[in-house]
Amino acid sequence: MMLSLQKKNLLIIIILTTFLCSIQTDDISIPKDHYVSPEPSVHFPIEFNATKAYEHIRVQLEFGFRVPGTVEHDMCVDWIREELQSVTETVISHNFSLPGPDETLIHCQNVLGKLNIHKSNIIIIAAHWDTRAIAEKDIINTTQPIPGANDGASGVAVILELARVFFKYKDEFDSQIWFLFFDAEDQGSGGIPGWNWAEGANAFSDSIDQFHNNATEQFSFFLLLDMVGGYNLEFMDEGYSNNELQDAVFQEGRELGYTQEFPRYPTRRYVTDDHVYFRNLMPTLDLIIDFISGPWDHHHTHQDNLENIDKNSLYVTGSTIESFIYSYHGKTTWNQNYTKWIIISAVGAIGFAGGIGTYLFLKKRKIGNIT
Ligand SMILES: [Zn+2]
Repeated sequence: MMLSLQKKNLLIIIILTTFLCSIQTDDISIPKDHYVSPEPSVHFPIEFNATKAYEHIRVQLEFGFRVPGTVEHDMCVDWIREELQSVTETVISHNFSLPGPDETLIHCQNVLGKLNIHKSNIIIIAAHWDTRAIAEKDIINTTQPIPGANDGASGVAVILELARVFFKYKDEFDSQIWFLFFDAEDQGSGGIPGWNWAEGANAFSDSIDQFHNNATEQFSFFLLLDMVGGYNLEFMDEGYSNNELQDAVFQEGRELGYTQEFPRYPTRRYVTDDHVYFRNLMPTLDLIIDFISGPWDHHHTHQDNLENIDKNSLYVTGSTIESFIYSYHGKTTWNQNYTKWIIISAVGAIGFAGGIGTYLFLKKRKIGNIT
C-alpha cells in the first residue's frame, strides 16, 4: 500500500517535470532582434489616448494650411516643437531651404525630438507635417491647398500622443526613441513646382550624421505613419518597406484584434514616401492606406478634413505602435520573461532531481527486500 502511494507520487513528479520543461522550451526560443513577437498578447495596459490624438489634428487644422512658405506653416512647426519640449529630452530643428516658383528660397524645417538619449540603439517614428499646396484630385478649387487632416496631421497627432506615453515610461525601454517630423513631403508632382516628394526626409537623411554618433549609436528601425486616421482603416503592403518589419507590425495589430486594419493579404503598392531615404540605413516601414483605390477616398481633395477622421483609426494605429515598441524594446517585458524562465527552470530542475532521487530510493528498497 505504501509503495503504491510512492509510485503514484513518482508518476505525478515526472508528469509535472515534463510539463514544466515543455513550457521552458517555448520561452528559450525567443529571438530578441528578429521580429518574432515574444509574447503574443498585450504587454502593458495600453495608454494611447485617441481623444488626445484627435485634438492634435484639430489644433493643426486650426492653424490653416501648413504649406511651406506661409505663416500658417511656421506657426504649426512652432507648436510641434513646443509640444515636444515637455515629452522629450532634446528638441532639434533641422533647417533647409528649397527654391520657390519665383526662385526665392522657401525656408523649411524638420523637427526631431529625442528620448533616452544615452541609449545606444535608436528607433525612429516619423510623419510629415506639411500640407499639400494643391487639391489636384478634387473637382473644384484644384489649385487651392488641402486641409490635410489625414494626409499629414494624423501621423503627427499619433506620434505626439505616443511621445506623451513613452515619455512617462521612458525607463522601461532599452532604446532611444526619435520622434521625427518632416517638412516638404507632400509637394511633388506640381504641388510646389519643381519640388519632389519627401524633400524633407531626403535632406534629413543626407545630414543624419549631424544628429547621432556614428561610432557609438546604431539604428534599429524606422516607422513612418502616413494617413493613419481616416475611417475604414486598412493598411496596405507598401513595396519599399522591409517585409520582416512589416509582417511583425501587422502581426502585432492582428494580435490586438485589428484584423480588418492589418489584413493577412493586404493590397501591394509602391509609394515614394519619406521612408525611401532611410532604406539604406535601417529596416523601414511605411504604415499607409491604399489611397488610390481603398475605401478612404479623400486623398488630395478638400474633403481630407476633420469630418473624415475616425478616432478609432487613431486608436488602432497608436495602440499597435505602442504595443509593438513595448514588445521589442520594452525592458520590463524582457525582465519578466527572464525571471519567469529562471523560476520555471529552477522548479523543473528540482522536480526532475526529486523524481530521479525518489526512483533510485524506491529501486534500492525493492532490491533490498528481495535479497
Ligand atoms: Zn499627400
